[in-house]
Amino acid sequence: MYNVTIIGSGCAGLTAAIYAARADMKPLVLDGHEPGGQLSLTTHVENFPGFPDGIMGPELIENMRKQAARFGAEFKAGAVSDVDLRQRPFKVAVGKDVYETRSLIVAAGASARLLGLKGERELIGRGVSTCATCDGYFFRTKPIAVVGGGDSAMEEAGFLSKHASQVYLIHRRDEFRASKIMIDRAKANPKIEFVTPYVVEEILAPEGLVSGIRLHHVTTGEKKELNLDGVFVAIGHDPNSTVFRGKLDMDENGYLVADHGSLTKVPGVFIAGDVQDHRYRQAVTAAGSGCMAALDAEKFLAEHKD
Ligand code: NAP
Repeated sequence: MYNVTIIGSGCAGLTAAIYAARADMKPLVLDGHEPGGQLSLTTHVENFPGFPDGIMGPELIENMRKQAARFGAEFKAGAVSDVDLRQRPFKVAVGKDVYETRSLIVAAGASARLLGLKGERELIGRGVSTCATCDGYFFRTKPIAVVGGGDSAMEEAGFLSKHASQVYLIHRRDEFRASKIMIDRAKANPKIEFVTPYVVEEILAPEGLVSGIRLHHVTTGEKKELNLDGVFVAIGHDPNSTVFRGKLDMDENGYLVADHGSLTKVPGVFIAGDVQDHRYRQAVTAAGSGCMAALDAEKFLAEHKD
């Protein structure tokens, strides 16, 4: 029986683990299907406070993991397949293994959607990115593409236009899901060129670094290549919340919704990080919410000694 089980080992989960372990709660951390979360998929992180020269995402996450382990956090591999929150202790299943826990912190994160192209995942950090705030700076004075037609794509294109020499906004339709104000702003930006309706057929990287993309026109089938150094995939995120459907409140996109702070409608279950945040999605905000969840779990355990 665990005092607290933390689902997810990204920035939010590991910060919760550091706080819970230092409070002597002996937390169990379940790694999830993407151990280390989205930080483990980025390269240089320059906006996490405390690192004036920046730090590599995987190194930052490894440091957090060591810090949590040093205070007694226990780690187990595997993704959660089911949860039973009907009564305490809660039950958390990872395949055949079932863990009982007095409290639960859900920090399962969100996964950036990818286009599903050959070699795309391997090129993350080599020209493919899912995070403009994290990686935009590396493409100073270089041409890049943003793929997507929602608010994220418009926002990222605007942000990236401050660094890049040219931003191609590639979208598969002539209509956009983004709000009018965001589209108007992007269209008024002289550095942003709209390329529609095109889909990316291939990311070109003959030397192992992105050097261009091949597009095809959705209606005419015409093909064309663009020479560029970066491809920002901004086609949305999926919160890793499926196992909580019908058990915790969520919005129409599947993001968990807190009652207050990290508290949910189930006493003893707390939420943190990107699984409950589609707005900020930063490492530092995820870490902050992980801290809040651990403090809330500690208070809950002190008040419920059953
Ligand atoms: P989104 O609104 O779901 O838009 C995703 C876009 O990606 C759509 O244009 C979609 O095309 C395209 N897409 C999806 N899968 C694709 C694929 N396999 N290949 C090519 N294109 C694909 O996602 P989002 O832009 O991340 O926004 C998510 C939520 O956050 C929205 O509610 C949004 O308003 C909000 N948000 C708000 C702001 C802001 O207000 N500042 C900023 C960012 C996000 P189709 O349209 O053809 O399906």
